[in-house]
This record gives sequence, C-alpha cells and structure tokens, in this order.
Amino acid sequence: MKELTCIRCPMGCVMNIEEKNGEYTVTGNTCPRGKEYAISEMTDPVRTFSVSVRVKGGDRGAVAVRVDRPVNKKYILPIAKAARGMVLTAPVEQGQKIAKNVAGSGADLITLDKVRPQ
Ligand code: SF4
Repeated sequence: MKELTCIRCPMGCVMNIEEKNGEYTVTGNTCPRGKEYAISEMTDPVRTFSVSVRVKGGDRGAVAVRVDRPVNKKYILPIAKAARGMVLTAPVEQGQKIAKNVAGSGADLITLDKVRPQ
C-alpha cells in the first residue's frame, strides 16, 4: 500500500493505492481523476518541468527552457544534467527548440524566453 496526494486539483485528496495481481485499488479519491493519477504514478509517473541553460553573448547569462511534453520522472535528473552542459549563443528566440530527444527521454527542450545579443 502506498499513500500519495493527488495533484490534479487544489483539493489535494490523500489517497492510498494497493496493487494485487496487476489490479490497482485506490481509496481516498473524491473523483475519478484521482484514481487515474494514482495509477499513473504507480505505472508511469510523468512530469513537465523547466531548467536553465547558459547563454553567451546575450543581455542575460541564462534562459529558462522546458520539456515539450511530460516525461517519466526517471528522466528529470539526466535532462537537468544535459541542460547544465549546454551553452547557447545569443540571440535566442522564445520557443526555440534547442535539443531533440534530450537524454533519450523522447522530449525536446524549448526555450521559454528570448535573449538579445549584448
Ligand atoms: S481526487 Fe479529484 S477532487 Fe481529489 S484532488 Fe484529485 S482531482 Fe481533486
């Protein structure tokens, strides 16, 4: 049995999920979205997230980037590590794709802002 808090809405229902013979039993959820979330957390927990990437020759030294789709939690650290090793050169456009299939996650990295040349 595992306890987790649903993050699909602000109610934050505390749920318990138990797996038996490949079947999941969820309790504590107020609506079906909670059950769906609990099962996805057990089988394929995914997240979207953003990190910073260094920029040289710009009016700022870094730009925020995000993955273009939810990725399994196991890719968060490898993607963050890959992003730490990247250096972009200004100008950088908002929405620019800077890496494809980053860290083998299947997701691309997209810039969230622009950086002008200095
Ligand atoms: S179970 Fe439903 S009501 Fe409860 S936090 Fe999740 S989405 Fe909201």
